[in-house]
Amino acid sequence: MEEQTRSIVQQSLNALLENETFLPDLKGDMRKTAFTSLNAILSTPNQIHKSFLRVPLKDGEVVRIPSYRVHHNDALGPYKGGIRFHESVNEEEVVNLAFLMTLKNALHNVPFGGGKGGIVIDPKAFTEQELQRICIKYVRYFNNVIGPDKDIPAPDVGSGEREMDWMMAEYKKINQGSPYLGSFTGKSVVNGGSLGRREATGKGVYFTFRYLLHDYVTANEKTLATSTNPFAKTALEYINRPLTVAVQGFGNVGSVTALEAYRCQNIQNKVVAVSDRNVTLFNADGLDIPALVEFTARNRGDLPTTDEQLKAITVSAVIQPRENILTMNVDVLFLAALENQINNQNKAEVKARIIIEGANAPTTQEADDYLSQKGVIIIPDILANAGGVIVSYLEWLQGRETQFYTEEEVFKQLLVKMQTTMDLILPQYFGDPFPLRQNCYIHSVTRLSTVLYKQGKLY
Ligand code: GLU
Repeated sequence: MEEQTRSIVQQSLNALLENETFLPDLKGDMRKTAFTSLNAILSTPNQIHKSFLRVPLKDGEVVRIPSYRVHHNDALGPYKGGIRFHESVNEEEVVNLAFLMTLKNALHNVPFGGGKGGIVIDPKAFTEQELQRICIKYVRYFNNVIGPDKDIPAPDVGSGEREMDWMMAEYKKINQGSPYLGSFTGKSVVNGGSLGRREATGKGVYFTFRYLLHDYVTANEKTLATSTNPFAKTALEYINRPLTVAVQGFGNVGSVTALEAYRCQNIQNKVVAVSDRNVTLFNADGLDIPALVEFTARNRGDLPTTDEQLKAITVSAVIQPRENILTMNVDVLFLAALENQINNQNKAEVKARIIIEGANAPTTQEADDYLSQKGVIIIPDILANAGGVIVSYLEWLQGRETQFYTEEEVFKQLLVKMQTTMDLILPQYFGDPFPLRQNCYIHSVTRLSTVLYKQGKLY
């Protein structure tokens, strides 16, 4: 497991060890032993499954594609997490992402454990038929370790409804007669998916920002004004005034987040910059986000890369290198691309004072420490981007009951769940001067440890 994650686990455990009210039945040596086993449980996945998918391509060549399914922990329920399709996927990364799923589900009280999958390909380099074969092979190879009560995959970077539909169809074919609707989530709505699942992550990401900065801080303005907490000070500086916003990544998460910011009535946002794997687009007066979303839908997901393309859709913007988005002079930065984007190299150049992690692990621990010390508010991945897995849980439930909710009902349940978590975490965050990530980790680890203890697994 990545050093960074290990160190945060350690920090959270140390904080808990000192806390007398945590597992008060455990005393002396028993307490020490329990913490040692907790540490071992959290920092080691239960299983790592690896396969080479042998897939024939259009030209007759057979490729061997490394692929993974990691089971991190299932104390809270079946393993749950997406399958990432990306050329940089590797075992360590999948293990780390599976661990984050364990913490994310525990944080939001979603009755699932943590899992993750990965397929080492650039999906844009394959034809649709080849991709379908890759998905089918993945299910054949991992069929015995997945299932509605065992491990439920979902989309992640590079995968979406189409892939989940293919995968569920193969699962159904192999396991004839068994329930199959709950085997994969993030499916298309006609194929047993949930209304609102596609937008859920982006909506949730934006909600955490709006709730923290608008609803919560406005409601508690008087108390926060007397506080010496650095994050309370930052929040108060940014309420009730127009804010400039940049969004890194324009895929399923980034594009919905940008649209939410563009449309939000409660906060006067101006989305001045968006980026993807090719470019950053900038306009100090604000970008026409709906026009850009429409363009990407017709252009295999990519933003315009030339002035001609921008002109054709009457969007006015300056084209800049993609990495410029991270160091722009904006108030708010949403990170919805890949991991390790804000790191030791660029942390000192980051100007945004509010950062929201739509992606998993986009800020390194050192960069988080550095920025947090300067009072920058960072809403971490496991808090901000849980909308996807929360609606996945609703999809799984709907599949079991074969009863489907309206989109309104789905969004209502999503926001209630996220607000419940925020209400639990924020008073602590604006109380102790710990980064929000650490508050969230402590909360997740506490919930997980209590369950593990009750299950008799801490000895
Ligand atoms: N891949 C998403 C995540 O990282 C969603 C997982 C799911 O829906 O199971 O949270």
